[in-house]
Amino acid sequence: MAKKILLILTGGTLAMVEDVGLLRPADNRDIVRHVPEISKIADLTVIDLFNIDSADIQIHHWVKVAETIYQHVHDYDGFVIVHGTDTMTYTATALSFMLNNLHKPVIMTGSQKPISDILTDARNNLLNAIFLATQDIPEVCIYFDYKLYRGNRTKKMSSTQFAAFSSPNYPVLATVGTQIQVQRKLLRKPSGMMRVYSNFDTRVNIQRTFPGLKPSYLTKMLDTDVRAIILQGFGMGNLPSVENSLIPFIEQATQKGIIVAIASQSSRGGVSLDQYESANKAKASGAISTHDMTIETSLVKMMYLLGQFNDNRLVADNFELSIAGELGSTA
Ligand code: ASP
Repeated sequence: MAKKILLILTGGTLAMVEDVGLLRPADNRDIVRHVPEISKIADLTVIDLFNIDSADIQIHHWVKVAETIYQHVHDYDGFVIVHGTDTMTYTATALSFMLNNLHKPVIMTGSQKPISDILTDARNNLLNAIFLATQDIPEVCIYFDYKLYRGNRTKKMSSTQFAAFSSPNYPVLATVGTQIQVQRKLLRKPSGMMRVYSNFDTRVNIQRTFPGLKPSYLTKMLDTDVRAIILQGFGMGNLPSVENSLIPFIEQATQKGIIVAIASQSSRGGVSLDQYESANKAKASGAISTHDMTIETSLVKMMYLLGQFNDNRLVADNFELSIAGELGSTA
């Protein structure tokens, strides 16, 4: 019997049309008309949830998607979400935290060209995402250009190439070719009841460091309601600590109870606060590490944890642990 899949449409280029030279959201329902062969892969139900450029995604959109999945989790074998590529990583990461103990596939996909375009990547992405949602893959993934990734490990790497995503610090979960190869040992193993958590707190900011950055610009942030600051340093998490030193800023922030987490501007590898004197001074001033999490995941995880705990110390303690396979090398 064909597997039952819920296709949740949220917009993005896949669903757009060109109008006076610009791409804008079109009618979501046109999508399925372009791929009639879908019915051979799965017994599909479509929900037209919203239809926006994903640059306009807000937290309430994440909540709407998560609640839709939670509401129907027993009715379907898997879920596919069509979403714009620009913020797909953020939504995938948020869903991975919100859908605790998820035991069904949630496969996000989109495309670089609209589905109505002759040379589109949308058909391949959509059809394969639906096929993968019929498989035993109990986590939130992104499928794009013949590869399946853990959602909270991805980065949008290209605004033009069909290979738009990569997963710099975790292997690809499955590849699609003449055969579909799923790397089972890399997949999450849910245990216990599924629950949905939908509280986020956006009192967080990211500051990228650069040679010449004036620390006084940052200290202004301490007079706001910010609860956590992610400082995106260099390499392993090093920051200016001699001239224009950011160490006094970190000390002031952590003394006020504000969380300072050190991230890296390098996509691959990760942060170590124990390798160089500069990053180690940040640690001694109370900063914590984003380890090998992407900057997008660090941000969404911070918002999620701030939404779960009022006590910033609990947020900081949980931030450095893996919640949904977003950190470290184990599934
Ligand atoms: N701006 C579009 C979006 O994110 C880009 C895309 O879908 O590829 O909605």
